[in-house]
Amino acid sequence: MIADPADVLRTVFGHAAFRGRQEEAVRHVAEGGDAVVLFPTGAGKSMCYQVPSLCREGVGVVVSPLIALMRDQVEALKQAGVRAAALNSSLSASEASELRGKLRAGELDLVYVTPERLVTDGFLDLLGRCRIALFAIDEAHCVSQWGHDFRPEYLKLASLKELFPGVPRIALTATADPQTREDLIERLGLQGASVFTTSFDRPNIRYTIVDKDEPRKQLLAFLRNRQGESGIIYCLSRAKVDGIVEFLNDRGIEARGYHAGMDRDVRDRAQDAFLKEEGLVLVATIAFGMGIDKPDVRFVAHLDLPSSVEAYYQETGRAGRDGLPSDAWMTYGMGDLSQRARMIAESAAPDDVKRVERMKLDALLAICETPHCRRQALLAHFGEAHPGGCGNCDNCIRPVATWDGSVAAQKALSAIHRTGRRYGAGHIIDVLLGRATEKVVRAGHDQIPTFGVGKDIEERTWQSVLRQLAVLGAVIVDPAYSTLDLGEPARAILKGERSVAFRQDRKFEASGAGGGGRKKGERSRPVSSGDAGEDALFEALRGERMAIAREQGVPPYVVFHDSTLREMAKARPETLDDLGGVPGVGAAKLGRYGDRFLEAIGRHMDAGAGA
Ligand code: ADP
Ligand code: ZN
Repeated sequence: MIADPADVLRTVFGHAAFRGRQEEAVRHVAEGGDAVVLFPTGAGKSMCYQVPSLCREGVGVVVSPLIALMRDQVEALKQAGVRAAALNSSLSASEASELRGKLRAGELDLVYVTPERLVTDGFLDLLGRCRIALFAIDEAHCVSQWGHDFRPEYLKLASLKELFPGVPRIALTATADPQTREDLIERLGLQGASVFTTSFDRPNIRYTIVDKDEPRKQLLAFLRNRQGESGIIYCLSRAKVDGIVEFLNDRGIEARGYHAGMDRDVRDRAQDAFLKEEGLVLVATIAFGMGIDKPDVRFVAHLDLPSSVEAYYQETGRAGRDGLPSDAWMTYGMGDLSQRARMIAESAAPDDVKRVERMKLDALLAICETPHCRRQALLAHFGEAHPGGCGNCDNCIRPVATWDGSVAAQKALSAIHRTGRRYGAGHIIDVLLGRATEKVVRAGHDQIPTFGVGKDIEERTWQSVLRQLAVLGAVIVDPAYSTLDLGEPARAILKGERSVAFRQDRKFEASGAGGGGRKKGERSRPVSSGDAGEDALFEALRGERMAIAREQGVPPYVVFHDSTLREMAKARPETLDDLGGVPGVGAAKLGRYGDRFLEAIGRHMDAGAGA
C-alpha cells in the first residue's frame, strides 16, 4: 500500500469516515484480497474500489456496462482530482490512442472500460504491460442469467483470474436476490473471495401503494407540493408514457418522456436534461434507469405494476441514493393484476418459465395487499428479517384496519361458482350488486340466488375483496381472458371452515397522506431542515452550483451533492479551512470551488443582514 485508506477517503473525497462495512472491504482489497460487495443502492459501493485503487500502485481497471454511467463517474473523479478516464466506443480513434498512451505511461489512477472492450486481445495485451492496482467489476449481476440484466460479455470476465494472477478482483452489485448472488460468485470464479454485505433496507425511502382509482388524479395529488424535485414515473407502455407526459405538461408540471420507441436523439436529450436540470419529471418505460446514478431522484412513481418484487425494488431503489428522504409511490388495481397475468400467458416463454413468472407476480401482489409493514414484507422477500413497524411506509404511518370478510368472501366465491367460473371481475361485481345489465340478463344471472346479495358493500370494496382473494389463491385469474375461477382455498372458505380478514381499503383522498401526497402547506422539499434561514442558504448554494454546472456542462451533483450543500448551509463556513471540514468537500474541490461557495455564502448572509 502506498497510502492509507482513511487518508484517501478524507483528502480526496472529503468524507470524514467510512460507512457500514466499507472500511473492511476497502482494507481487504487494498491489501490484495478478492472481494464481493453486496450493498444496496446508495450505500457507497464506488468507494470500495476507488479508494483501494488510489491506495495501491498502478491503475484500477473498472468494468462497467454503460457508457452514460462511466461518463458521470469519470467526471466526478476528475472533479476530485483523480486521474480517471473511460475507454469506450464513444471515443474517437485519436482520443482512444491518447488514453492508451497514458495507460502505458502509468499516468492514470482509474480507467473505466466496457466488458467487450476489456476482453479484446489488444486491450488485454496493453494491460499485460501495465501495473494494475485491481479489477473492479461493477453491476456484477450482469454475469448472471438469473438477473434481468444478463450480458453475455460479462461471462468472459472469468478469464481475468488466470490472466492476471495476483491482481485483486472486486465484484459489486446492488442485486439482492440470493440466486443471482451465488451465480455471480461462481461465474466470476470468486469462490475464494470475502463477501461483504449489509442490510438491503433503504430507510430513507417511504413506500406507499394506493388502490388505483382515477390514477391520473391520484398522480397529480401525489405530485402536489413536489415542484422542484426530480422524479421518475414508470409506465408499462410507450403510448402511456406519451399520454402522461402530455397530461403533466398541460398541467404545468415539466415532464419529459423516455422509451425505446422514441428517436435516439430525443431520448438522449431527455436523459441528459433529467441528469443536468433540477426538478424535472421523467416519464419512462423500464427502458430507462439501469446505470443511472443520479443521487437526488426524490421519487419513483409506478402507474403500472412491475413484473416482480425484484423489479419493484430495483426501480424504486433509484430514489434517494443520497440518503435524503424520498418516496416510492405506486397505484395499483385489479386491472394491473390481469394485465400482468395476460402478459405472462401470452409470452413465448416455456411453461416452466411462465410458472416462475407467475410466482414472482404473486409475491409482489402479496406485498401490495399486505395490511402490515411493507418494508418488513419487502425485506422478508430477500431473506432479511426486519421487526416491522418501520414508521416510514403507508401501512405504518396510517395503520390499516382489517375487517372480517368471511361472509363477503363466501358471497364473492359463490357468485363466481354459480356463474360458471368464466366471467371477469366486472361481471361478478354486477351480479353481487344486483345490476341487471344486458350481459347479466342475457346469461340469466339475475335469476341466481347470489344476484344482489352484495348490495351492502360498495363496488370499490368488492374489487378489493376479489384482489385479496386472488392473493390468497381462492380466486384464480385466468391469464388469457381475465376471467375468475376458484382455487383450492375457496372450498374451506365457502364451507365456513376458514375465516378471512381483509384490509380495509382507504378511500382516495386527494390531499391526504393516505395517498402519499403532501398536505397543504407541507414543505415542497422533503429535505427541509425546518430552519428557514438554513433552507434559504441551501437554495442559494444550489443556485451557485447550478451556475457552475452549466458553465462546465456537467450535472450539478458532480460539483457537490445536495447532502454536502445541506451541511454547508448548516455550518456556514467563513474560511477555506472551515469549508474543507464540511463532509463531501475534498481537497481538489476545495481548491476549485472553495472561493465561489464562500462568496455565495457571504453574499447571502450580507443580503440577509441588510434586509
Ligand atoms: P452505490 O454505488 O452503492 O449506489 P455510491 O457509491 O454512488 O453508492 O455512493 C452513494 C453516495 O454516498 C454518494 O453520494 C457518495 O458520495 C456517498 N458516500 C459514499 N461513501 C461515503 C462515506 N464514507 N461518507 C459519506 N458519504 C459517502
Ligand atoms: Zn412499515
